[in-house]
Amino acid sequence: MDHSGPVCVLGLGLIGGSLLRDLVAAGTSAFGWNRSTATVDAAIADGFDVSGDLVATLRRAEKEDALIVLGVPVPALPTMLSAVAEHAPSCGITDVTSVKGEVLSLVEDHGLSDRFVGGHPMAGTADSGWDATMEGLFRGAVWVVTTDGAPELPDETVDATWLRIWCRVVHLAVGVGAAVVPARSAAHDGAVARISHLTHVLAESLAVTADRGGALSLSLAASSFRDATRVAGTEPGLVRAMCENNRDALVTALDETISLLQQARADLAAPDRDIAGLVDAGHAARLRYEALAGRVAGEPSARPYIRLQPGVSGWLEQLHYAESVGAQIALLEV
Ligand code: NAP
Repeated sequence: MDHSGPVCVLGLGLIGGSLLRDLVAAGTSAFGWNRSTATVDAAIADGFDVSGDLVATLRRAEKEDALIVLGVPVPALPTMLSAVAEHAPSCGITDVTSVKGEVLSLVEDHGLSDRFVGGHPMAGTADSGWDATMEGLFRGAVWVVTTDGAPELPDETVDATWLRIWCRVVHLAVGVGAAVVPARSAAHDGAVARISHLTHVLAESLAVTADRGGALSLSLAASSFRDATRVAGTEPGLVRAMCENNRDALVTALDETISLLQQARADLAAPDRDIAGLVDAGHAARLRYEALAGRVAGEPSARPYIRLQPGVSGWLEQLHYAESVGAQIALLEV
């Protein structure tokens, strides 16, 4: 099965624009659309095949059987999905959005779930827009590819259209150097609430608390403060779009954190001022993370690695096993 083919990226901000750069650099036929003319002009000036005409871009995607990548934030998705349904009625669709359950329900509302496979590259910077785009942003990064279209039970039939698009999305992510980790949308949202969305809420809270300490606090702030508040520099609209669209999972994670903080506060205020409970548990958790992900950014990960042959007997069990252990996958051709 050939999983290559043209790619059409809608929305050329940090993620969509960087993807377009990587695809073109890898020799993939790729073109794009962006709402603001400033980005369209800048991308064309940089040599990319980009248009500001959405209808024309989608008709071209339909004609070329391109895989459509939605590179816009959640609030822009309903309009984009309506346009895709109307002007590119048979293209495969994926996205890069940081929440997956909300996107899946929007996709279902538009009757597009049979040709949608969600994606979330776990890469980024605090900068936005075409000027922030770069080649190599996804190299070595995890790229979650959703599996909601795969039957839970191994003896059920896998929809052939869905499987073809799923393989194309895996191929896209691998082609830009990412490590594909499969997950159901709900499992993804529960996990990213803990490791990403909660991080944003805590970084904002920490920045506010330090700022309230006045000029001296900020003058003394060094690398621990800089590292812990880095993501508070993200464009606020993007943070709100992530957190507010993953509310249930984020509230669960926040409740756990608040309970840890309340216990630490009580321990600190008690006569023996002993916060070993939180500090020891946090240190151990950080060491477990480092054992899996490497001690510094860029070190090889120790996450499990599973090769799958879609369509071959037993492959769905392997896929579900990979999901259950957070494994990276690679596709073997049948
Ligand atoms: P960005 O740099 O701010 O780019 C946003 C893009 O969406 C721009 O092309 C913008 O077009 C377009 N857009 C915004 N609102 C629109 C609307 N109403 N209609 C049409 N186009 C619209 O943001 P980004 O970081 O690339 O984020 C894009 C997606 O990637 C988001 O869903 C985000 O959750 C996800 N993501 C972000 C990161 C990260 O670290 N930043 C990481 C992983 C995933 P204009 O030029 O016209 O404004």
